[in-house]
Amino acid sequence: MPEHFDVIVVGAGLSGISAGYHLQQECPARSYCILEARETIGGTWDLFRYPGIRSDSDMYTLGYRFKPWREAKAIADGPSILKYVRDTAAEYGVDRKIRFGHMVKRASWSSADSTWTVEVEQAPARTPVRFTCNFLFMCSGYYDYAEGYRPQFADEASFGGRIVHPQFWPEDMDYSGKNIVVIGSGATAVTLVPELARQAAHVTMLQRSPTYVVSRPAEDKLANTLRKHLPAKLAYAMTRWRNVLLSMYFFRLARRKPAQVRDAIMRMAQKELGADYDVQTHFNPRYNPWDQRLCLVPDSDLFASLKAGTSSVVTDEIDRFVPDGILLKSGRTLPADIIVTATGLKMLFLAGLQVSVDGEAVNFPATLTYKGMMYSDVPNLASAFGYTNASWTLKCDLTCEYVCRLLNYMARNGYTQCTPRPEAGSVEAEDWLDFTSGYVQRALHLLPRQGTRTPWKMHQNYARDLLMLRFGRVDDGTMEFSRSTGAKAAVAAEDRSLEPVS
Ligand SMILES: Cc1cc2nc3c(=O)[nH]c(=O)nc-3n(C[C@H](O)[C@H](O)[C@H](O)COP(=O)(O)OP(=O)(O)OC[C@H]3O[C@@H](n4cnc5c(N)ncnc54)[C@H](O)[C@@H]3O)c2cc1C
Repeated sequence: MPEHFDVIVVGAGLSGISAGYHLQQECPARSYCILEARETIGGTWDLFRYPGIRSDSDMYTLGYRFKPWREAKAIADGPSILKYVRDTAAEYGVDRKIRFGHMVKRASWSSADSTWTVEVEQAPARTPVRFTCNFLFMCSGYYDYAEGYRPQFADEASFGGRIVHPQFWPEDMDYSGKNIVVIGSGATAVTLVPELARQAAHVTMLQRSPTYVVSRPAEDKLANTLRKHLPAKLAYAMTRWRNVLLSMYFFRLARRKPAQVRDAIMRMAQKELGADYDVQTHFNPRYNPWDQRLCLVPDSDLFASLKAGTSSVVTDEIDRFVPDGILLKSGRTLPADIIVTATGLKMLFLAGLQVSVDGEAVNFPATLTYKGMMYSDVPNLASAFGYTNASWTLKCDLTCEYVCRLLNYMARNGYTQCTPRPEAGSVEAEDWLDFTSGYVQRALHLLPRQGTRTPWKMHQNYARDLLMLRFGRVDDGTMEFSRSTGAKAAVAAEDRSLEPVS
C-alpha cells in the first residue's frame, strides 16, 4: 500500500518551508510531508552558487511574514538567505517532514475516492515509489533545475577558453587576472559583473539590449533603527508594510507615467556614471519600466565598477565565437579567457509534472488559473507562485494561508473535493503573465491562462490579494465543493470534522 498523507507538498525551497509551517500552525490535524528532489533544503538559494549571488528584493518582503529578518543587510547574499530558510525549517520542525531525493513525476486524481496518487522516483537508483494524498500543493518553483536557457552561438567550439552558465557555476573556477565576458544584462549579469571585477583583469557585460538598473542601499537604515528600539516582530511588520506600499506605489507610477519614470531612472544612471557616459546606448531599454523586472544593484556596485574601469558595458550582437573571444556584428572583437552565459532560466510549469484527472491528462495551457494558485477543473491541487512585480514570498505566504483556510473549510463541512469551475462563456482568457521578459515569452504557450476578472485574474497586487485570500469567502460561488462516494475519503472527512475553525 502506498504511504498516505492528507497533504503532499512538492519542494523544500522558500515556498515549501512556508507551506509546512502554515499546515502545522493552521491545520494541525492534517498529516503532511514534503517531497524534495534534491538532498537539501533551500531550492534556488542552494542551487545557485555563482560569485556574489544575492537577492534583488529586500528581505523584509522576501522573508516570511511569520519570521522577522534580523540581519543588517536588506539586500542579502545567497548564503544568508539559505541559512534563514534552513533555520526556519529547523525552528518549526518542518525539516523533519521532508523526504529528500524524491523527484515527483506524475500525479493522478481519482474523484471516486478524492485521492491523488503521486508517482515518485527515489534517489539514487530512481526507484519508483508511490504515495497517496487528498491535496497536492506544488511548491516546486518556476524553472528547470536540470538546465538553464542557453542559446547556441556560432562557432562555440572554436573558443579556446572556458564557457560557464551561472546555474552551474564550477567550484574550481579561478577567474583572477582573467578577461571575462558576461553575456546578458538581467539580474544575474548585473550581480556577477561587479563581483567578478574585484579579481578579474576586466569584465565586459555584453548585452543585445539594455535593462533598467536602479541602485538602492544594501542596508535599510530605518529598518535597522526600528529593530534596535522596537520588538523584532513589530519592527519587521512596519518595515515590510512600508516596502510593500512603496513598491506598489512605484509600480503604479511606472504604469501610469512610463516616460517620466524612464527619464528618472536614466537620470539616476547618468548621475552615477558621470556626464560623459553613454547612458542612452547602454541603459535605455526598448521597453517601458516594469514591462520586465527592474534590476536592483546594492550600493551602486555595478556603477562603481564601470566608473573605476574594472568593467564595461558593450551593447552589440554576437556574430560568432572566435578562439580568443567573441566577434561582434559591429566587427569588433571582445577578448575573453572566460565567457559566462548569463542568458537566463528555462521556465518549467509545475516542475513538468504529468497530471491526470480521472484518467484524462490535464492540458494546463487550456486551463484558467484561479486566485493565482489553482486551475480550472483540476481538483485539490494548488501551486505557490510569486509576484512578478514584488517579492515572491508575499504571494506564496498568502497562498499557503489560503490553502489552509480551504482545507479547514472542507473539513468543517465534510467536503473532500474542491474544484474551481468557470461558468461557460463567463470569462475571457488572456496570457498568464503580462511580462515581456524572455523567459516568460519563451514559455507562455506552455502555461495556463488567466481570466479577465476575479477570481481568474492575477492582479499582481499584494493588498488586493491579501483582502481576497485572507478575508474573502472561501465558498465564493466559483469553487465547487463536493463529497466523494468512496469509503476511504468519507472516513477521512469524518476524522477531520473536529479541526479548528479558521
Ligand atoms: C538567482 C535568483 C535570484 C532570485 N532573487 C529573487 C529575489 O531577490 N526576489 C524574489 O522575489 N525572487 C527572486 N528569485 C525568484 C526565486 O526563485 C524565489 O524568490 C524563491 O526562491 C522561489 O522559491 P520556491 O520555493 O518557490 O522555488 P525554488 O527555490 O525553485 O524551490 C523549489 C524546490 O522544489 C524542488 N523541486 C522541483 N521540482 C521537483 C519535483 N518534481 N519533485 C520534487 N521536488 C522538486 C526543487 O528541488 C527545489 O528545492 C530569484 C531567482 C533566482 C534564480
